[in-house]
Amino acid sequence: MPLTRADLDTIPRYVAGRNPSDVAREVGIPEAVKLASNEVPFGPLPGVVEAVAEAMAQTHRYPDPGVVALRNRLGERYGVAPDRLVSGCGSVALAEHIVRAAVLPGDEVLYSWRSFEAYPIITTSCGGTSVRVANTHDHAHDLDAMAAAVTDRTRVAIVCTPNNPTGPAVPREDLERFLDQVGPDVLVVIDEAYREFVRDPAVPDGLDVARNRPNVVVLRTMSKAWGLAGIRVGWLAADPQVAEAVRKVVTPFSVNHVAQAAALAALDAEDEMRRRVDIVVAERTRVHAAIKQLRPDVPDTQANFVWLPLGDDAADFARSCEKRGVIVRPFAGDGVRVTIGTPAENDMFLSAASELLA
Ligand code: PMP
Repeated sequence: MPLTRADLDTIPRYVAGRNPSDVAREVGIPEAVKLASNEVPFGPLPGVVEAVAEAMAQTHRYPDPGVVALRNRLGERYGVAPDRLVSGCGSVALAEHIVRAAVLPGDEVLYSWRSFEAYPIITTSCGGTSVRVANTHDHAHDLDAMAAAVTDRTRVAIVCTPNNPTGPAVPREDLERFLDQVGPDVLVVIDEAYREFVRDPAVPDGLDVARNRPNVVVLRTMSKAWGLAGIRVGWLAADPQVAEAVRKVVTPFSVNHVAQAAALAALDAEDEMRRRVDIVVAERTRVHAAIKQLRPDVPDTQANFVWLPLGDDAADFARSCEKRGVIVRPFAGDGVRVTIGTPAENDMFLSAASELLA
């Protein structure tokens, strides 16, 4: 008799971006740059390291389990009542908590594919059944097909906008139509991990969309634009009853007080965050244009990465980039996601790509 659930064999393993020193050692080069995990490349925001150092003096104490100071601050910043907010150990943990709070064995979780690789892992581990709807030919969500795939077992539908790993974001009209089609009985999670990088005015702020729709949950992270990937803070905004249900299944104390202090300090540095994001967005425009010359089928991106739909060549392309000192993220048989880095890092990638894709 196995000691763990037999169906765990069906869960794909979460693949994290490779470590630069491992890759450099393996390919025999002095150093490699990492464009594989959608991080922002400028280090912590001003004030974060000091806030972390100060919070370390309290490591013998439990953190505030309600994460009240952070929720109040987020509430003020985003115009959302704190009882609608839940913070978690990264937004990936909150995505899991939402599914855990909504799904009983056999219930369906609907999402677009390809999208964030954690969705199938979360769904299966919570006893749910994944229903995947293929992206359109330009790698965007096919929301009409998703609405048509709703059944009476659908409990959660996830809309990832901008979509990781392909890049397009969902326009307001499409999102509103989808929500009307789906109706009020399905919990719709709008995963906006890359919201701060969006520049297309047709793409709505999920928090506005959610305001009059109690079945909509908005998921945000401080890992990307806010530069706190290593600290693990995410948050969600939901109807108060849904937020309370999620709080019931949260692992207690999962946002430690160092993370809470870091998040508060990062929020104090919003102007600098915006300046950095503007640099990333300008670089995104440059990298996207250059790559599109080589591969016209590269889709639009509103996030801090570009998607190369290389199909069966994806793994080889990534390996060849590593040999040139650039770590990108392959999705075997499908494509390669390349995070926007500093201008110098992007130049390294573009030089590798122009050699490999010419
Ligand atoms: N959602 C999406 C779409 C993501 O790409 C990621 C990170 N890769 C997350 C959620 C989770 O981010 P975190 O747990 O670091 O907040």
